[in-house]
Amino acid sequence: SSIPTVTLNDGAQIPQLGFGVWQVPDAEATPAVRAAIEAGYRSIDTAAIYENEAGTGAAITEALAGGVAREDLYVTTKLWNSGTRDWSGEQGRDAVLREFDASLAKLGLDQLDLYLIHWPRPMHGDSYLNIWKAFEQLKADGKVKSIGVSNFGAEQLTRLLDEASVAPALNQVELHPYFPQTELRAFHAEHGIATEAWSPLGQGKELLAEPALVKIAEKHGRTVAQVVLRWHLQSGVIAIPKSVTPSRIRENLDVAGFELDAEDLAAIAAVATGKRIGPDPQEFD
Ligand code: NAD
Repeated sequence: SSIPTVTLNDGAQIPQLGFGVWQVPDAEATPAVRAAIEAGYRSIDTAAIYENEAGTGAAITEALAGGVAREDLYVTTKLWNSGTRDWSGEQGRDAVLREFDASLAKLGLDQLDLYLIHWPRPMHGDSYLNIWKAFEQLKADGKVKSIGVSNFGAEQLTRLLDEASVAPALNQVELHPYFPQTELRAFHAEHGIATEAWSPLGQGKELLAEPALVKIAEKHGRTVAQVVLRWHLQSGVIAIPKSVTPSRIRENLDVAGFELDAEDLAAIAAVATGKRIGPDPQEFD
């Protein structure tokens, strides 16, 4: 396929465009992921808290039975905040291992490509360090190829890089033209951590009607969603747009064959507001 890949700090490769399934009910996840794989997506992003790992897994199982090779699919899921909340030491580690096994079973897989700590929850101190030890064990045991984090700030990443044996492969954070995460991206680049964008389309709201972006889309004969995804790719960011509409699922993958120029990139940079759509990870529990 023509989807570019990003090489992670552990040598693994992740497709730069993937398919996200947040807010897709379990029963609808199967046809949505089926449509995505048919359209050519090979990377799927879910999470235990989305409660659609089983529906997602059903579409993956179907694709594998239909001849898609396991090594051509890239599956990500995330450890939720509860369950490990008040636990430390071995008890905490065992809880993480159990939650991982439950996710893997729902997905119908025997190995995961990427496992993420969903939120850092700094109000619970550095409990993520204990969770990370279990993640390192899962990687050492070959149950997951790569381990990473989500919604971590530079402070938590620094702590993790100082204490851990395995550096996080990537950090999945809110990122779109309104909230481009310029500083965090520079921090990631300095430390060999890949950047993955959640809500890459700004959740499909005002961003897709932004006049400056509409103008760029008209100039290239593309949609605003395609311009925004093209911007992610040219920025070296991994993006995981979500849609349950087959035509949009295809549209979001069809971002090759045009290039944003310096003028376009400057105009996109100018729409940044610095305002998040989602919660502030430093406060979210
Ligand atoms: P998104 O930015 O991908 O926007 C999705 C919405 O945009 C769709 O529901 C639809 O309304 C609209 N849309 C999609 N394609 C379109 C198109 N071509 N034209 C017009 N409208 C279109 O938002 P998202 O779902 O929040 O983020 C994507 C994925 O990121 C999620 O599904 C999930 O996998 C992940 N995510 C992770 C976290 C986290 O904490 N790690 C948080 C939020 C989302």
